[in-house]
Amino acid sequence: MVFRQLFDAPSSTYTYLLGDAVTGEAVLIDPVYEHVRRDAALLRELGLRLIATLETHVHADHVTGAWLLKQRLGSLILLSQAAGVHEADRLLAHGDRVAFGTRCLQVRATPGHTDGCLTYVMDDERMAFTGDALLIRGCGRTDFQQGSAGQLYRSVQQQILSLSPDCLLYPAHDYRGLTVTSVAEERRYNPRLGGDASLADFEGYMTNLGLPHPKLMQIAVPANLRCGRPESEAALPQEPTWAPLSFSFGGVWEIQPTALAERLAAGDVQVIDVREPSEFSDGFGHIRGARLVPLPELVARSGEIARDRPVVAVCRSGARSAQALVLLQKAGFNELANLAGGMLRWHAEAFPVEGAAHWRSP
Ligand code: FE
Repeated sequence: MVFRQLFDAPSSTYTYLLGDAVTGEAVLIDPVYEHVRRDAALLRELGLRLIATLETHVHADHVTGAWLLKQRLGSLILLSQAAGVHEADRLLAHGDRVAFGTRCLQVRATPGHTDGCLTYVMDDERMAFTGDALLIRGCGRTDFQQGSAGQLYRSVQQQILSLSPDCLLYPAHDYRGLTVTSVAEERRYNPRLGGDASLADFEGYMTNLGLPHPKLMQIAVPANLRCGRPESEAALPQEPTWAPLSFSFGGVWEIQPTALAERLAAGDVQVIDVREPSEFSDGFGHIRGARLVPLPELVARSGEIARDRPVVAVCRSGARSAQALVLLQKAGFNELANLAGGMLRWHAEAFPVEGAAHWRSP
């Protein structure tokens, strides 16, 4: 199985990618709207196909990426029937199973933080995704969104801490950067729900948390009741349109050699070659019309680069040119892409070059 834990820093939210290595089918648990591009890049790079997004509950601190992922990748939106949302493709109830390839998740209702909280347990019961029902040495609050301390106490004791002691537990959030815990640890050390904590102890603890409401609550809850569909098209994240680009999980927009050749033929992009002068004129040569600006000189010479045309950065393998994009972005350039695979790929795919020493005609 493929497993990745992804993080949203502003809300300290974890998104989980689960993929079946046999069939390539994958699901995301609790995707975040602002990270749809990142998550789609990771799925592509790992060769996985997103079939569904699963929510552990209606979040109050971030907007889900479920709707946008459905638009981009065709995934289905799954969440609890008790969540009261619109736009879901399948409403889940306690005891349901969600299959992806040869694997599946078991659905357990764990209300108390909200009415519609679900915990997803892997088929082999080695991992469970607890949402905000159980956090690492903590738990979700119970003072809004139909919260109930009594209900949460029963949910955690009966549905989560009843799992095998070595079952790993992955929460929806952690505010200290902790990533994983286990049933045995939380049974023993959870200060609210572990040890000998009784229902009365827990209720006493939860009624005295005194927390402010999440900053984004007024925006996030209504948006999440629509599964993250924005109220207007204008709110959709803008994607570059000047060429077919793909975004890498490493955070770089890339252009394939074929697409660059088309843009060069149309004459509407500028190629900045950031290699050293000797590489520009020897070996692989360079792309016709490319301007040589070695990476160490790029910042000082960025005034030589036109700002009204997209920039494609090129180097030998695509590594230095990726760094060039970071520098150009800081210098205020917007339309940027890295030539995927650099001159190595350009040459391997037999696109024309100029100035290559050993191909120069006599
Ligand atoms: Fe929550």
